[in-house]
Amino acid sequence: MEEIGHYINGQRVPGTSGRFTDVFNPATGEVQAKVALATVEEMNEAVAKAAEAQKAWAATNPQRRARVMMKFGALINEHMDELAELVSREHGKTLPDGRGDVQRGLEVVEVCMGAPSLLKGEFTDDGGPGIDLYSMRQPLGVVAGITPFNFPAMIPLWKMAPALSCGNAMILKPSERCPSTSMRLAELLTEAGLPEGVLQVVNGDKEAVDAILDNETIQAVGFVGSTPIAQYIYGRAATNGKRAQCFGGAKNHMIIMPDADMDKAADALVGAGFGAAGERCMAISVAVPVGQETADALVERLVPRIEKLKVGPYTSGDDVDYGPVITAQAKARIEGLVESGVAQGAELVVDGRGFSLQGYEDGFFVGPSFFDKVTPEMDIYKEEIFGPVLSQVRTDSYEEALNLVIDNPYGNGTAIFTADGDTARDFAHRVNVGMVGINFPIPVPLSYHTFGGWKKSAFGDLNQYGPDAFRFYTKTKTVTARWFSGIKDGGEFNFKAMD
Ligand code: NAD
Repeated sequence: MEEIGHYINGQRVPGTSGRFTDVFNPATGEVQAKVALATVEEMNEAVAKAAEAQKAWAATNPQRRARVMMKFGALINEHMDELAELVSREHGKTLPDGRGDVQRGLEVVEVCMGAPSLLKGEFTDDGGPGIDLYSMRQPLGVVAGITPFNFPAMIPLWKMAPALSCGNAMILKPSERCPSTSMRLAELLTEAGLPEGVLQVVNGDKEAVDAILDNETIQAVGFVGSTPIAQYIYGRAATNGKRAQCFGGAKNHMIIMPDADMDKAADALVGAGFGAAGERCMAISVAVPVGQETADALVERLVPRIEKLKVGPYTSGDDVDYGPVITAQAKARIEGLVESGVAQGAELVVDGRGFSLQGYEDGFFVGPSFFDKVTPEMDIYKEEIFGPVLSQVRTDSYEEALNLVIDNPYGNGTAIFTADGDTARDFAHRVNVGMVGINFPIPVPLSYHTFGGWKKSAFGDLNQYGPDAFRFYTKTKTVTARWFSGIKDGGEFNFKAMD
């Protein structure tokens, strides 16, 4: 049985706690590895070493630090297939989706190759008589990243690349469900020239997270995961004087206007609702057609598309649309929510219950379900299902549809499908959600923009990656400087005898 420890000071080390948790192969249900769960002492030791290493790293000029990112980017490309396989092996997503996971992280590394220009300061010449002001961005010191299971490559890369490029050291605490990709990325960073100790991967559970939150050396925490944990981490980090940005869960709606291209809308809904088994924070989980005819037209197109979905292990190749969910508990929770939808009166148009795959009976596969006539009081509407379940809420007007999105407590992503520019523009302007798609179902911004939700989907300030990440991982120092009258008008230039 493989034992996954930690990555400390440029190498893999075993855990010393004696505590482990199982890492499953979600397709077979088998335990494929055990990952060590760090103690407070192990965490504190890793942080102390990181603090030591950070001094020289911060003193390395930004261009040289950026060169490490250039090499790292090249190594990620070289190892793309291997990394994608690591992602799929522990997460269960298909290989093309695993490659996408790595690719969207790599794109943030690419932006960090230009970190020196993002780290440039500001200067005011002659802000007062003989007075200049300048601001510089300095690293925070040791920072921490705490990441979820659902993007084992992308989200750790969103955290580590900007933090390190700014001259910080980082403690990365990946999800205990999918730890291997982070361990491999850390090795590639060492190969790329990152000095030992600047990135420490410490595996663990709540004990390790609390050790991060209570460690006085750690200056900032970047978290991604579910909303209750995001809120908890934000509160405890802030109480302990840390900078914190904590991204949480989602319930993303897609409005379909009567003038939308219905086939394209149906294709988009199937991909965004069921891709990665619905385990994406930007998944569309609620379709909101405007008008009963639109709703009927959508059902007519969605049903055959959903019934055709191929569910299977990533090892089946590119022929599979989505894989298993992450754990047996996740499967049971999703199935429980589907039952609640039936019990609470939603119309189960495509029934994914009782799904079983020959040869993989113990895997955590969940068949695709589609509910029509869902209402906001139902649990399937209120909960983030995080599984292959699409709900349709029928509305009679654009305003009603828009207000449904506005009133939802989450605000990560949303989309509208329409042929009318005016409606699309109105929607983008008025909706209180952080990322908006227009005829685009999963509007994850490119790496030189920024990523972040509103409302209960994010706690704290500033978005992930792009220019905001460079603000989050640096602090600003502003100097006001005056030089009194100097040699140019008060000095003595003639050579004088010493009499
Ligand atoms: P999770 O909240 O269970 O875990 C996230 C991290 O927190 C993990 O590293 C885990 O070890 C740690 N953790 C879990 N319970 C903890 C506790 N009680 N105390 C301290 N730490 C704890 O989330 P998950 O199941 O891994 O990921 C899925 C969730 O993440 C979904 O809600 C999804 O929407 C969200 N997500 C959000 C974004 C975003 O950018 N907004 C992106 C991806 C995923």
